[in-house]
Amino acid sequence: MSAPLQRALVTGISGQDGALLAAQLLAAGVEVVGTHRPGRALDAWRLDGLGIAAHPRLRVAVLDTTDAAACAAMVEEIAPDALFHLAGQSRVAESFRDPRGSLAANGESTVNLLEALRAHAPAARFVLAASAEIFGSPQQVLQDEATPLAARTPYGVSKLLAHAAVGAWRASYGLHASSAILFNHESEWRDEAFVTRKISRAVARIALGRAREVQLGNLDARRDFGYAPDHVAAMRAIAVRDTPGDYVLATGVGSSIRDFAAAAFAAAGLALDWFGEGADEVGVEHGSDRVRVRVDAALFRPVDAPLLVGDASKARRELGFTPSLDLAGLARRMVEADLARERALSA
Ligand code: NDP
Repeated sequence: MSAPLQRALVTGISGQDGALLAAQLLAAGVEVVGTHRPGRALDAWRLDGLGIAAHPRLRVAVLDTTDAAACAAMVEEIAPDALFHLAGQSRVAESFRDPRGSLAANGESTVNLLEALRAHAPAARFVLAASAEIFGSPQQVLQDEATPLAARTPYGVSKLLAHAAVGAWRASYGLHASSAILFNHESEWRDEAFVTRKISRAVARIALGRAREVQLGNLDARRDFGYAPDHVAAMRAIAVRDTPGDYVLATGVGSSIRDFAAAAFAAAGLALDWFGEGADEVGVEHGSDRVRVRVDAALFRPVDAPLLVGDASKARRELGFTPSLDLAGLARRMVEADLARERALSA
């Protein structure tokens, strides 16, 4: 059922998933060409941290995925047997500010890469990093591959376009193109712009006496928080299957931002009590009057899906996908990594 990979093209190599995927592929003996955008230096902290920046089988290249000709030239030159398209405007909040940029970065770029494969590597496997945001604000409690698509944010629309293109190019041209419908997945390699990492770093700083509190947006937003290496491994498994397809990758457990914050503080030995509601809610360190979490209404999104939780039964069945960390384990891992980083700063 599986075809071994030899040479993989990974867009977005500097990101959380790109770096983790590159590390997994290299460990499996695969040659990796990873791309980042032109006009900026490679952000290499994850590649350095994962110990692969100077790996002999890793080559880093510059690619503007919104440039169709550049995508075609890259695919022709590399002749990959798998292309993982992970680069993109990955922040929902940013997409409200620059919707056209999101559509270009996430939607058009997917079409450019599919077209490049069609022209120059039609037998290669393509895996898209799609998103649960394609479901919008679903009525269905657990979303799966059959859940109606109804994106409600510019980011969601951009990923919906990309996801639909994968299905269309698979049907129209017979490409081995698959879409990984990714629910949130976090790790110690997450960017600080994302709320989980913002929390884990703040908790580390608070625990070390370097900060007093953290300001957060909607504490009630519920997400399905998985562990990024699990989702990345599943994307590899999708690529090597004989048959392409779409796969929800999720833990099936919904947790609020408040839950994640509580787990992160607990990982540092701090229990929180919650008082108030909405924008007035605070998280106070147990047994004290020290406010550790405050809500900032300016951080609320114009539209926020209240409950995105996925049913990954198909991925469990066909890929052997198994989430390896629960919320407490994930929060602990992230907080411990940030404590180590913070301590290293003062060493
Ligand atoms: P990151 O933000 O960590 O990495 C994405 C990478 O894409 C960045 O390192 C950046 O690399 C590149 N990038 C950023 N903005 C743009 C842009 N406007 N145009 C082109 N490239 C850009 O995200 P993750 O690794 O966490 O996510 C990987 C993919 O999975 C993304 O497409 C994301 O949307 C999707 N996804 C992730 C989820 C998650 O929970 N992590 C959930 C659902 C979907 P550089 O600047 O070096 O070019």
